[in-house]
Amino acid sequence: LPIPPLPEDLPKIELTENARQVLIRRYVRRNDDGTPAESVDEMFWRVAYNIAKVEVSFGNPDVMTRAREFYILLTSKKFFPNSPTFTGAGTPLGQLAACFVLPIVDDMGRDSMGIFQTLRDAALIQQTGGGNGFSFSRLRPKGTVVKSSSGQATGPVGFLRVYDHAFGEIAQGGTRRGANMGVLRVDHPDIEEFITCKTDENAITNFNISVGITDAFMRAVKEDAEWELRFPDVTDPRYRTFRGTLEQAEQEGIPIRTYKKVRARDLFNKIVKQAHHNGEPGVLFLDAANRSNPVPHLYQLEATNPCGEQYLGPYENCCLGSVNLAQHLGDNGTVDWEGLRQSVVLSTIFLDDVVEANAYVPAVPQLREAAMRARRIGLGIMGLADLMYHCGIRYGSPEGQEFAAQVMEFIRYHAMQTSIELAQQRGAFPAIHGSIYDPENLKWAPPQSIVPYTHDYGRPPIDWDIITEGIRKHGIRNAAQTTIAPTGTIATVAGCEGYGCEPVFALAYIRHVNDNGKDLQLIYASPAFEKAIARAGIEAEKRQEILEQIMREGTCQHIKDLPEAIRNVFVVSADITAEEHVRMQAALQAFVDNSLSKTINFPEGATEEDVATAYMLAWELGCKGITVYVTGSREKVVLETLKT
Ligand code: UDP
Repeated sequence: LPIPPLPEDLPKIELTENARQVLIRRYVRRNDDGTPAESVDEMFWRVAYNIAKVEVSFGNPDVMTRAREFYILLTSKKFFPNSPTFTGAGTPLGQLAACFVLPIVDDMGRDSMGIFQTLRDAALIQQTGGGNGFSFSRLRPKGTVVKSSSGQATGPVGFLRVYDHAFGEIAQGGTRRGANMGVLRVDHPDIEEFITCKTDENAITNFNISVGITDAFMRAVKEDAEWELRFPDVTDPRYRTFRGTLEQAEQEGIPIRTYKKVRARDLFNKIVKQAHHNGEPGVLFLDAANRSNPVPHLYQLEATNPCGEQYLGPYENCCLGSVNLAQHLGDNGTVDWEGLRQSVVLSTIFLDDVVEANAYVPAVPQLREAAMRARRIGLGIMGLADLMYHCGIRYGSPEGQEFAAQVMEFIRYHAMQTSIELAQQRGAFPAIHGSIYDPENLKWAPPQSIVPYTHDYGRPPIDWDIITEGIRKHGIRNAAQTTIAPTGTIATVAGCEGYGCEPVFALAYIRHVNDNGKDLQLIYASPAFEKAIARAGIEAEKRQEILEQIMREGTCQHIKDLPEAIRNVFVVSADITAEEHVRMQAALQAFVDNSLSKTINFPEGATEEDVATAYMLAWELGCKGITVYVTGSREKVVLETLKT
């Protein structure tokens, strides 16, 4: 698809060698013989131009100026969209989003939306590089009667295995591996089987699994109450045409059968034990998600994308994008707030353009319809840890929580302001009436920090009343605006030390990269730390010693003669307590309307009770889910600190 050549006066991107290699391997288009069809800079121009070009349909007469702005935004590494936008923009496939959620209804397919229809739709999405999430909660329990065949139902876990096998055989677009999320509600009769279905690490390898937890369940755990596993009565004539959730069945008066009564704590402990063992299942707090569902008049949220940061309704997708905080460092340990504001404004416009530019998957027309209805975008961050190193603020500390909240509040505020301006120019999202953003019946209220603000980081003032008034006047263009993605690939390309909102994993380590079946080992040492010890006046020889020790341990916390100020700030994931991890997540969540990807790291030797405490805290602080990882618990580790 021809586009104007890259204008010669535009800057070229600066990349580390590692980043350049990853970029070329993953993003650059290829000729039929496998040779690159474009340079790195042309790749960015292809993305910038093809996204900008859709603004013709919004009446922008000067697409070239916009394309140049996008190009500069991208090549300054201030913002990157999710990988599929890089691989898909301006290509015949043209699918640009990383995340989808598809509905699964309790029907083998006599009706066109059956279980295998969804599998087919998912396979098509997977081929474009998109990840899929599914709720299996509407599937009847294993062993229930199937009227047409007088047989017994397979149950959600059986179908999860069917999907898993199918996905294992389908290559995902480009070099991306198929990622999927399977969710089952905590009150589904098959929940116990679900919780343990991945005990064997070689089982169900194409899925992450999460238990969909309700507030009622968490209360039952606290009160040590009984818990009922329930499902609508499938023999009831009304069930035959019923396609909804358990709550909807209750509302419609379909009888509900209780299959089993368990002690809530036993079930909770089972989840905790399993997660402690190998990080799965994760947990999704469905009621927390639904309390901020922007479009409750359309659907109830039941599932997320594969990495858990994005709750979506049926057939919805979300194109993610992340502002790189490492490229917004101000002078003398400050934040470049004005630069950040400008990046957020332009990135929001970029993502709204992506909603338009995305070709989705034409063979699944529901995808475009759902996308256009709510126009969800997911702007987030990467390099939070880099910014915190720069500002001398310890990740996880009370001040770290406050700082993260202040930054995220600023981003949410300017993303919303831009989305309101876009509503004024391009129109509000079509499903706004009846949504929380309905200008005639506004139910949305400004977000509030859950941690006290006691520091002044020079942040320009924020006035949420302006946003409220703006929505009343113009509506808003995007039903959801912010998400914090894992940024697994884009943060590598951008050269961030900290992925997404995560702390730095280790100050020095080896990274194993699977390169077409070959194991590539990349050695990495934190540039910010190296700079800090040089600036502290430590002599070269001593610095070398320090780095060697860090290579062995990943952390600098045991180095006694390191200045306290450096030790305090240069923390890594393992130096931060689980409680601090959860509190960081919650502080950020307050200003993210979708969800966020974060791993709660536990040290080796952490107990199941420690994990249980973290779950409880995450729920109480309003998190929308929690993913834990106990160091050393998995046989296969992707990242490991160098052990000599
Ligand atoms: N994802 C996927 N396959 C992958 C990695 C990611 O389908 O191999 C999807 C998944 O939905 C995930 C989302 O992309 O939640 C965002 O992941 P990430 O931020 O790591 O992607 P990046 O844009 O950095 O490649």
